Amino acid sequence: MMENAPIIRHEHDGYTIEGFSRAAVQTYWRVPELKMGFDLGAHPWDFMGTPRWLITHTHLDHIAALPVYLARRRMMKMTPPDIYLPNSAVENVDKMLTGFTKLDRGRLPCNFIGVTPGDEIEISRELVLQVGKTTHTIPSVCYLIWQRRNKLKEEFAELTGDQIRDLRAGGKEVTREVRIPLLAYMGDTSPRGLDDNPDVYKARILISEMTFVAPDHRQEIIHKNGHMHLDDYVKRVDKFENELIICGHFSTRYSRRQAEHLVKKKLPDLMGGRMKLWL
Ligand SMILES: [Zn+2]
Repeated sequence: MMENAPIIRHEHDGYTIEGFSRAAVQTYWRVPELKMGFDLGAHPWDFMGTPRWLITHTHLDHIAALPVYLARRRMMKMTPPDIYLPNSAVENVDKMLTGFTKLDRGRLPCNFIGVTPGDEIEISRELVLQVGKTTHTIPSVCYLIWQRRNKLKEEFAELTGDQIRDLRAGGKEVTREVRIPLLAYMGDTSPRGLDDNPDVYKARILISEMTFVAPDHRQEIIHKNGHMHLDDYVKRVDKFENELIICGHFSTRYSRRQAEHLVKKKLPDLMGGRMKLWL
């Protein structure tokens, strides 16, 4: 393993969340079990194998590593990856890659999928991607991954396996689709990003930003700059139904100890142990 960029890891019920996020420094996450990554502020060498990256917005600390990642995949003869990003950014990001291709004399192949809030994109038979609008200083989105399963309809619950098979053979629809909100990734946003996408409060895993934690900051300025403060979480504490709430993107002005201390002053048990500070 080559550690060229820091990685924090956490496992939750079969899903591994890996990455790093500090405001203005770099943000990158991935969940290997989903073969999906989120934001490309930097790119640990070991993340190269993840073939699908969902970018929330084009601030440099969330996208700067895109050309590096594409060049590595090409060099290793891997297939061009899928890059999801706000539709309004695709043209300029493509131009940026063209510029690097000229400078580097190497192709940077990828498939762009431009997204707009409200989009629902089928990723696989099991996974559906929903795009939400967030509020930041430039166009930005959040991503919610739904897991879908086919469940036997209640009306057939009493039947035997043979009877169900016969019904199915006769062309009857015996199952219905159920969707579970598996993972929400917010990127950078003011608290409106959470409130405008209420399903994210129900996601089993929520990855969100808590850029500011100290009591001396002025809320309206933080919100105007498209970020969140610890107090925004305290105010909404009853809304979070998540099994795991990962808070990251802390400002560099806080050390790990300071951030932990300030959060635990307001949320002593870290929302019943469900909240994990990504530090
Ligand atoms: Zn940003």
